[in-house]
Amino acid sequence: MIPTAFEYEAPSTVEDAVRLLAEGGDDVKVLAGGQSLIPVLKLRLAGPELIVDLGRIDGLRGIREDGDALVIGAMTPHHEVATSGLVREHAALLAEAAGTVADPQVRHRGTFGGALVHADPAGDMPAPALALGASFEIAGPSGVRTVAAEDFFVDLFTTAVGEDEILTAVRVPKRTGWTAAYEKFVRVAQQWSIVAVAATVRVEGGTIAEARLGLTNMGSTPVRPTSVEQALIGVAPVDQEVEAAVASVADGTTPPDDLNGSADYRRHLARVLTRRAVVRAAGA
Ligand SMILES: Cc1cc2nc3c(=O)[nH]c(=O)nc-3n(C[C@H](O)[C@H](O)[C@H](O)COP(=O)(O)OP(=O)(O)OC[C@H]3O[C@@H](n4cnc5c(N)ncnc54)[C@H](O)[C@@H]3O)c2cc1C
Repeated sequence: MIPTAFEYEAPSTVEDAVRLLAEGGDDVKVLAGGQSLIPVLKLRLAGPELIVDLGRIDGLRGIREDGDALVIGAMTPHHEVATSGLVREHAALLAEAAGTVADPQVRHRGTFGGALVHADPAGDMPAPALALGASFEIAGPSGVRTVAAEDFFVDLFTTAVGEDEILTAVRVPKRTGWTAAYEKFVRVAQQWSIVAVAATVRVEGGTIAEARLGLTNMGSTPVRPTSVEQALIGVAPVDQEVEAAVASVADGTTPPDDLNGSADYRRHLARVLTRRAVVRAAGA
């Protein structure tokens, strides 16, 4: 289908983009990689009067170090996150997960920030960002504010980013020396996650010294099972021990019940995938 007609602006600064959003009111939409927004427009699920394309704002793209954190620009494509040496060294979990998003075309066009703001429960970037304790820099009419990961994902397709705001960058605390695995369960290659588990661990003296986990598609927002992270401390990274430590990982979750799987089946998947992800991460 063809989208409804809209005006198009491509500002070169964040300030101009924010101004355009304020002027456009309810009928304006931000465009990043377009991999989710363009299908939405074509299906006429949205019909904004103005599109503000962030693609010409150079400062929104790229990955840099800032002390004990990595700063990833919102317009950085998935492919760059997946292949960046800095990300592999200091936030390996993000590289692992970004490499599983869709296919090479989508990974070259779709952006890290776009995927996070879109907040699809089956999207692969929210759970790793939550697990890593990322924080989100958001620019709006009253300046820039920072939101912690646990407050960023509000509901299904809803984040803390307001209609008049732009996600500019994501700060990810460095976890150098930690290893990671992202276990994504799909029926066919290059599909959205039915369930996925993000795991990053620090192994010391043959046992898990620290662990951080995130669950994809186990609720309307990503889930961080902190009690299971605690239960993994001191555990040897072998199947039987990890299986016992992660047995409660699906407790309290509210996964969808649909044609791809029942809620109970997803809870089963979450336990199996968490074991696999932790054991693989620890052996990586
Ligand atoms: C065939 C196909 C398969 C896919 N498979 C997967 C998959 O397996 N896993 C997965 O995680 N994703 C998948 N995706 C989605 C992909 O990751 C998209 O890139 C992502 O969801 C949106 O990123 P984008 O840059 O394309 O954003 P856009 O589509 O441009 O925008 C998405 C939404 O976020 C808003 N937005 C974007 N950036 C900002 C910003 N900086 N500030 C404020 N608002 C913003 C837009 O207004 C819009 O509402 C798939 C997409 C396609 C087309």
